[in-house]
Amino acid sequence: MIYLNGKFLPMEQATVPVLDRGFIFGDGVYEVIPVYSRKPFRLGEHLSRLQHSLDGIRLQNPHTEEQWAGLIERIIELNEGDDQYLYLHITRGVAKRDHAFPREVTPTVFIMSNPLPAPPAKLLVSGVSAITARDNRWGRCDIKAISLLPNILLRQLAVDAQAMETILLRDGLLTEGAASNIFIVKDDLLLTPPKDHRILPGITYDVVLELAETHGVPHATREISELELRTAREIMLTSSTKEILPITQLDGQPIGNGTPGPVFQQLDRLYQAYKLEVMRG
Ligand code: PMP
Repeated sequence: MIYLNGKFLPMEQATVPVLDRGFIFGDGVYEVIPVYSRKPFRLGEHLSRLQHSLDGIRLQNPHTEEQWAGLIERIIELNEGDDQYLYLHITRGVAKRDHAFPREVTPTVFIMSNPLPAPPAKLLVSGVSAITARDNRWGRCDIKAISLLPNILLRQLAVDAQAMETILLRDGLLTEGAASNIFIVKDDLLLTPPKDHRILPGITYDVVLELAETHGVPHATREISELELRTAREIMLTSSTKEILPITQLDGQPIGNGTPGPVFQQLDRLYQAYKLEVMRG
């Protein structure tokens, strides 16, 4: 069952008019929220980021946090599976095709749930491969916009190369993955680029930095050069659906000794323990 504009209904019965600005312009924003043991993970943080995205496209939030929490609770109830991931999508609504914002239009609100499988254990042992590409996205990558054409094209490069992710470089600096944030380990220091307009402020990124802080893992947020990326002892990606994954090959070259490193292993242990703690909470 999905939620669309005030109604809960089966996916097959859900339709959106062709003049929806999401369909015509990609004029909207979204969120992806993991659910563990039927509880949304870091809901407050996801809803704050949604607000940031809505502010970024000058679209009024159609719901209060309480209303969102209620809709999310209902969607979780209506769908099977203890672990799910929720997709929330808001567009500027249905209006005559014109780039300028329409007046007095009601936003389209859509929520769906999908099963959330645990990251395959095999990948945590072997690590995954990634390729690099030039980050050719726009200047507001901090907005979780539904217009994802650049991300799609960049991610497909990875699929074509039988790799898991495309790691992006802008002006010789690491930004993020096509659908993830990136951390490296250099001289025992966990490093990731700072949050600014060049990257999505990842919820998992925040969790990893918090865990590093709490558990005394040396870390810093600063710019990372292409050379530092290529010569890193460890590289890992983070995302709500993939959690933390070790990248052991970059553009066909091994990273470190080509197996997941100790910092990844420590952070993944901490992340799994933190998830359990929150679920019991
Ligand atoms: N960057 C991009 C471009 C993403 O699409 C995502 C989400 N898949 C992330 C980073 C990670 O964000 P989060 O940890 O909130 O899932």
